[in-house]
Amino acid sequence: MRRIMKAHDGVGLSANQLGLSHRFFIAENNRKFYAIWNPEISKISNKSATEEEGCLSIPGVFGQVSRSIAVTLTGLDLRGKKVSHKATGFLARIFQHELDHLDGILFTDKATNIREESLPVSIQ
Ligand SMILES: [Zn+2]
Repeated sequence: MRRIMKAHDGVGLSANQLGLSHRFFIAENNRKFYAIWNPEISKISNKSATEEEGCLSIPGVFGQVSRSIAVTLTGLDLRGKKVSHKATGFLARIFQHELDHLDGILFTDKATNIREESLPVSIQ
């Protein structure tokens, strides 16, 4: 999964984006890698911010999404150990975006000002 995420310049990827029916996602931010089973948000800030998002499942589509600026994410790591990550800013946004995937929600369900960008044609 990490290889696929990297290959597409992604910062997060959920298992169900690849057709795997697990509550599992990976994320990477500031060179820190997260792989979380059964992720849940245990704390969420009331304050939110609106930023542009995109998604590997719908390449070339971007939109403005309002998300909480801070969350605490709990779950299990790859060894099955309980973990808790306090995240703010971009990482908090990634966690919320990936958790939405696991609940069947795409960012376009929440976004405003959705725009499409034509993708560069790959030359082989
Ligand atoms: Zn996505």
